[in-house]
Amino acid sequence: MSALEAHPAVAPQSGRIAAVVRGVHWLRMPVAFAPWHVNLWAIEDEDADGPCWTLVDAGFPDDGTRANWLAALAGDLAGRPVRRILITHCHPDHFGLGQWLAGQTGARIWMSLGEFMTAQAWFGTVPASDNALMADFFIRHGLPAEQSEAMRNEGNRYRRVVGEVPVAIRRILPGEVLRIGGDDWTAVVGYGHSPEHLSFHRADDPVLIAGDMLLPRISPNTPTLAFEPETDAVGHYLDSIEGFRTLDADTLVLPAHGDPYRGVHARIDALQAHHAERLEQIVALCAQPRTAADLLPSLFKRALDSFQTRFAMGEVIAHLNHLGRTGRLHRLPEHGGVIRYTQP
Ligand SMILES: [Zn+2]
Repeated sequence: MSALEAHPAVAPQSGRIAAVVRGVHWLRMPVAFAPWHVNLWAIEDEDADGPCWTLVDAGFPDDGTRANWLAALAGDLAGRPVRRILITHCHPDHFGLGQWLAGQTGARIWMSLGEFMTAQAWFGTVPASDNALMADFFIRHGLPAEQSEAMRNEGNRYRRVVGEVPVAIRRILPGEVLRIGGDDWTAVVGYGHSPEHLSFHRADDPVLIAGDMLLPRISPNTPTLAFEPETDAVGHYLDSIEGFRTLDADTLVLPAHGDPYRGVHARIDALQAHHAERLEQIVALCAQPRTAADLLPSLFKRALDSFQTRFAMGEVIAHLNHLGRTGRLHRLPEHGGVIRYTQP
């Protein structure tokens, strides 16, 4: 962590912007849950009608964020129209206000197809079927029935939180180069945290708008989800961040949570070391056959509520899938419909 160099820019007040690097401005929206804020970005852009803005991410759909956007649009951002809203990924804290912000500004939403389709699926899924899939998935991984039954009855959380999603977008392809304000920005795909996460990289005055891929202080959740139960989300994430090693050592990283920093290579090392340690710990815990649910008390010291249990189960299953795929653990033949792993 000490190898990271903090950037001198200070987080802007709510509803204001702060210049952070040539052409890029920072907005920070407080939210009522950890990590307590999300960072959004405004890039100076220009189209046939003159100067305009391209925004990156829209924020969480709560009244505070809406008020902060209205203040910014009437204040620091006034004078240039917003033409585009680029979305890193479909989680509610980044994308939840996308449709609202597009309505306020007349801008179009640009995002990857994987994130768009996932948002559509989560939003439109009949809750009973989706929750049943998840509850059954967790039961197979050892979660006691009373806990999974509670999840079965939670309804469609994504739709309840997000409220509305766009029905049409401009798709961004992985690797596509976007021209923004006279600069080339490459859309870099990342896997493991969400289905087709995009970060945006400018090579000139090197800067990476990283979304959740390379956070300075926390390791993003890398869940295996019920709709692709064998997925090695940990392996996908580790491969994806390894891909960022080609970036210039000097690259300024603009994360969605936490403060801007330099030291991308040290951060990749630290995130890889964190997962290596977690994997090592899980291998040791599987000296006897264990389900994912068996491991929760050893891996998470505090009591988990139903929502945290979802995240924790997805995270542990992803690590088990990774260890199974790489041969460090052996997935036992299912017994009583329950999946267990053990050391080979
Ligand atoms: Zn996030």
